[in-house]
Amino acid sequence: MRIEKLTLARKTKFKTAYYVARGEQHGPVVMITAGIHGNEVGSIAAATSLIHRLQRGQLRFDTGTLVIIPIVNQSAYGLRIRGLPDLNRTFPKAKGQSARHPLSAAIIRVANRYRPSWVLDLHEANGFSNVSRKYLGQSLITNHWSASATLSRKIIHKLNRDISSKKRKFNLRLRHLPGSARFAAVTLFKAKAVTVETSWELPLSLRKAYQTKIVRHFLDHIGIKLHEVHARKDALV
Ligand SMILES: [Zn+2]
Repeated sequence: MRIEKLTLARKTKFKTAYYVARGEQHGPVVMITAGIHGNEVGSIAAATSLIHRLQRGQLRFDTGTLVIIPIVNQSAYGLRIRGLPDLNRTFPKAKGQSARHPLSAAIIRVANRYRPSWVLDLHEANGFSNVSRKYLGQSLITNHWSASATLSRKIIHKLNRDISSKKRKFNLRLRHLPGSARFAAVTLFKAKAVTVETSWELPLSLRKAYQTKIVRHFLDHIGIKLHEVHARKDALV
């Protein structure tokens, strides 16, 4: 495995690290973004931990490429705010249109370079989707026409089997949101794209665990199999 650390929006005040991890074998390319909204710390914690574990050799995969941007909006994250303007409304709304923020423009350039077949955009939201239609907490969101809806349903089914609390169960939401990363991934790159939303009302450790589990389920189905690497016993002597 090879991991490169690169800089997004390098020449701007918004610069932030991103990582490209490649397995030995060619395979699917998946882009994972977190921190498009700076206050959604559960998703940022999950993406950060994923790249750290890959870097430390605790996790590995043989096939495919992961492009991970763990903290897109550093300044909003520093202040634990959503960020102004809302970055997830600044992506191009159609082919030929440009992004309206240096960060969304830089993400589009990275997507252009690596051409991910899947984009997982990690977020957090209020409330519980299983309590009311108006809440997005504990949901996966895909575009109406997107083939990703089928896999999202399958993953929700798997997740919910292990969740005993009715309130915490996940639901699928189908939404167009022009200007969002998901919409741009689908319309500009014909990628399959899913927005992951955990609920802010849950403890941080649990939100991070859900985010991690969801990412692992998707990667597994897409064909990037993550393996835990256990320290050899003799290395501990
Ligand atoms: Zn968000």
